[in-house]
Parts: sequence; C-alpha cells; structure tokens
Amino acid sequence: MRLLVVEDELDLSRIVSTSLREEGYAVDVAEDGEEGLYKAKSWDYDVIVLDVMLPKRSGWSVLAEVRKLKPTPVLMLTARDAVEDRVKGLDGGADDYLVKPFELKELKARIRALIRRSAGQASSVIEIGDVTIDTAGKTVTRDEVTIDLTAREYSIVEFLALHLGKVVSRSTLYDHLFDEDDDSLSNLLDVHISNIRRKIGKDFITTRRGQGYQLE
Ligand code: CA
Repeated sequence: MRLLVVEDELDLSRIVSTSLREEGYAVDVAEDGEEGLYKAKSWDYDVIVLDVMLPKRSGWSVLAEVRKLKPTPVLMLTARDAVEDRVKGLDGGADDYLVKPFELKELKARIRALIRRSAGQASSVIEIGDVTIDTAGKTVTRDEVTIDLTAREYSIVEFLALHLGKVVSRSTLYDHLFDEDDDSLSNLLDVHISNIRRKIGKDFITTRRGQGYQLE
C-alpha cells in the first residue's frame, strides 16, 4: 500500500512516515499544498494523509482538486477540534479526520480501515482457503500456523488479497508497494513473490503470463 503524507511540520512528518514505513507501507511525503497536489495527481495512492493548514495551498483546496479527479481515500489532520472544520472536511469529500495531537496507533488503525473500506472489505480478516490474513495484526496464518513474512512480503499478500480474484499487474504492484525513493529493480518483485510462495505455498499466488498475479 502506498501512502502520501502532506504535512509541513517536518518533525511530525518524519515520525509519521518512519512509523508507517516500519509497517511495510510505501510512503511519499510532501511539505506544502502544491507539492501534495502534484503528487496526488501523479500517483494513485491508497490513502492520502492531508494536513489542513499548509503553506502555498490549504488542505481544503488540495482535497477539492483531488476530488475532481479521483476517489482516493483522504484522512484530514485538523489542528483544532472545531465542529466547523470536521463538517467542512466531511462535506468536502474527506473520508476521515484526526485532531492533532493524535496517537500514531490511532492514525494507523484509521488508515487500515480506509484501505479496507475502499477495497469493499468490511472485516479486518480475509480468509482464502486455509490461509488467513489479519489486516489489523498484519499477520498471515496457514492452518493456524503463523507465517513469518517480511513487511514487504506481507504488503504484497495484503494488496493481492484486497483485490481477490482480480489480476494485478506488475506495474500496479510496483506503484502501490514502492515509494518514490525506492530503487525498484525489476527482479525484486520476483524475489518477493518466490519467497512468499516458498513460505505460504507454491499454489498460493497464481502467475498470469504477461498480465500479472492473482489470488483465487
Ligand atoms: Ca500544518
């Protein structure tokens, strides 16, 4: 899953992005509204975390422009617990909001919920045959045995599971799993896929020649 964090408080931005990367998310950051809007237009993010008070262009304005183009889930960060702010955000097409200061734990839970919701997945647990993917705990079990996956491997499994039955192209996987600073070597994805197959089972991920990968 690839996220965009638009936040001009650099300490906060760093703490948030570091913590999200540790969870296996690919994270791009923007320091002002113009940069945020540019990146939001350039990539299909899974969630955008958008501060309201930003230099150059406000979070409201970024939200309005993004909403003209795409349905990307947007979580607004508001500085005040003002009712007007919340109403304005939700009316403007924001999917959720958090009032600063917030707990990282809560931000992560809300991001997970937005990702699930946009995939049409109500439950945090996805079951595929004897494989269970717990998107809240970020764990995968097969026959109730926990499988030891790296954060990146887990992200690939989760992305495919949230698109169950659909063929996901390699370029989509690259776009959603690697951020702008990642060195996306073309063979890296194959290495991750083969590690996942070795750990979960050879038949878990189907390769569609020339199209991509699929979980059925
Ligand atoms: Ca700000």
